[in-house]
Amino acid sequence: MAMLEVKNLEVYYGVIKALKGISFEVSQGEVIALIGANGAGKTTTLHTLTGLLQAKAGSITFEGKDITKTPAHNIVKLGIAHVPEGRRVFSNLTVYQNLRMGAYTRQDKGEIEQSLQTVYQRFPRLEERKNQLAGTLSGGEQQMLAMGRALMSHPKLIVMDEPSMGLSPIFVNEIFDIIEKVSAGGTTVLLVEQNAKKALSIADRAYVLETGNIVLSGDAKKLLNDDSIKKAYLGE
Ligand code: ATP
Repeated sequence: MAMLEVKNLEVYYGVIKALKGISFEVSQGEVIALIGANGAGKTTTLHTLTGLLQAKAGSITFEGKDITKTPAHNIVKLGIAHVPEGRRVFSNLTVYQNLRMGAYTRQDKGEIEQSLQTVYQRFPRLEERKNQLAGTLSGGEQQMLAMGRALMSHPKLIVMDEPSMGLSPIFVNEIFDIIEKVSAGGTTVLLVEQNAKKALSIADRAYVLETGNIVLSGDAKKLLNDDSIKKAYLGE
């Protein structure tokens, strides 16, 4: 059974149908990429999974449990963490305080401290800057903080919205290296990206979203070599 199963999901903004009945699944341990052009519905998909938007039809199942109508704060408790588009860190809080916020659903102080040390190991820059206000971090550092904050909830599944957006090539590589390490550490990853080349190069499988429909899916390395993908998404 897949860890996450999305079936015939339909989502509207008023009368506009943003998702037209999409289906996909994510199995434990996989890195799944959801790629597509601006406005294809990628963010809408993630917001529906994480309880920020309501589906009009279809279902979302996580570890066998129907979570279609589960509100956002309960989604976090079930083990799904969201790294939002544009990072959205708390600018007026320090790096450390932002990380602690990520653990708000957890009680055990010892376990929280352990997660903090794991995050600092993975992101040494965050430890160096733990007392710095998050709003003064560079874009790449804020992205690391947003990922670190999500990891503080000790998620089974982490969903990331455009982690490479607006970052310099060096930072993009660093962020993708970190995503691979997060995956190697046992967390399942669902990644939404416009940088299709990068996303496909680290993903196991991928789904291609076009104006609210999934038009193609399969092995990520095969999609990297697919002519229609190359033309439409890889600029080749
Ligand atoms: P991008 O890569 O540009 O972020 P995306 O694939 O994430 O694009 P979505 O943000 O999911 O796309 O948007 C899907 C469609 O829904 C678009 O046509 C968008 O204009 C529309 N949409 C998104 N949010 C709203 C909203 N709050 N009200 C009305 N329409 C919306």
